[in-house]
Amino acid sequence: MDTLDLLPLELENVGLAERPMVIAGPCSAETEEQVMQTAHELAAQGLKIFRAGIWKPRTKPGGFEGIGSEGLAWLKRVKKETGMFTATEVATAHHVYEALKYGVDILWIGARTTANPFAVQEIADALKGVDIPVLVKNPVNPDLELWIGALLRLNRAGIKRLGVIHRGFSSYDKKIYRNLPQWHLPVEMKRRFPQLPIFCDPSHIGGKRDLIQSLSQQAMDLQFEGLIVESHCNPDCAWSDASQQVTPESLRAILDSLILRDMKQSTESLEDLRKQIDELDTQLLEVLARRMRVSDEIGLYKKEHNISILQTTRYDEILEKRCLMGEQMGLSAAFMKVVLEAIHSESVHRQMQIMNK
Ligand code: PEP
Ligand code: MN
Repeated sequence: MDTLDLLPLELENVGLAERPMVIAGPCSAETEEQVMQTAHELAAQGLKIFRAGIWKPRTKPGGFEGIGSEGLAWLKRVKKETGMFTATEVATAHHVYEALKYGVDILWIGARTTANPFAVQEIADALKGVDIPVLVKNPVNPDLELWIGALLRLNRAGIKRLGVIHRGFSSYDKKIYRNLPQWHLPVEMKRRFPQLPIFCDPSHIGGKRDLIQSLSQQAMDLQFEGLIVESHCNPDCAWSDASQQVTPESLRAILDSLILRDMKQSTESLEDLRKQIDELDTQLLEVLARRMRVSDEIGLYKKEHNISILQTTRYDEILEKRCLMGEQMGLSAAFMKVVLEAIHSESVHRQMQIMNK
C-alpha cells in the first residue's frame, strides 16, 4: 500500500484552520503594474495567498508563454508590500531554482507536468533538502495512480507539506466544462490519504467565470480544504484565460456566498454520498449520450451501404458478453438484461429514423 509521510500545510499564520484556504491571483503575471494592482486589491479583500503563473504551459505555441524569471521579482514585491504569501507553477528544475531564489512560498505542479513522471522526478530531485509546500494538480488524464505517483516522488525527496488540486480532466466533450470534473477521483484520494489537503481549481474546471461559484460550493460540500481561483484586476484584458478570471471584488462575493456545512454533523456523510450519486448519474448520462451518437453514425453507415438495421447475431453477442461482464462487476443478469434491452431498443429506434430520413 502507498503511504505518504505528511506534515500540515501550515504557512506561519495561515493554515488549514481557515476553511477554505484560498489561493488567488491572475493566471499569468503579465506586467509589474498588473501584478501589483491585483495583489493590492486581493489583499484589501482579505486574501492571504497570491498566485501567478510565471512560466505558462500553453496547449499551442504562439500564445503568451509567461513572462519568465523577470516576474519573480514582482512576486517578491507582492510579498513585501502586501504581506501575502506567493505561489507559482514549476515545470522544470530550472523553474524550481529560480522560484526558490526569489523566495516564492508555495510551488504547484501543473496538470500537464503531473502527467509526465520524468518531469515530476526532475522537480523532486531539484527539491531535495528543501522544505516548501508543494501542491500537485491532477494529471490531464483521469489516472489516480499517476497523480499519487507524483506525490510519492515528491514525498521521497523529503517534501512533507503536500496538497493536491482538482482542476478537472481533459475531455473531447467541452459542452459545459473546460475540464471535466471527476469528483470521485479527489474523493478517493482523500479516502486513501485522509491527511492530504485537497484544493479545487474552479477556474480551470469551468473555463468560465459563471461556473466558479457553484464549483466552489460543490468542493466545499465534498469537504475540500481549499480553493485556488484565478483573479485579475481587469479580467477581460487578461493575456491568458481571460474568460475564467474574476475581479478581486467578485471573488470576495463568491467566497462570502459559500455555505460551509459543519463537518461533524452526522447527516454530512449522507450528503457526501448523494453528491457522489449526482456526479455518477451525470457521467452515466454523458456516456449514454455518447453511445447514442456512435449508434447514430452506425445508422448512417448502414443507410449508405444498404445494410439492414437489425443484426441479430451482433445483438446476441452484445447481450451475452455484457451480461457476463456485468455479473463480474456485481450486477445481476436480470438487471443487465433490462438495461441493455432498453438501450438497444432506443438505438434501433434512432437508426430507423435515420434510415427513413
Ligand atoms: C494554471 O493554474 O494557470 C494552469 C496552467 O493550470 P493547469 O495546470 O491546471 O492547466
Ligand atoms: Mn490559467
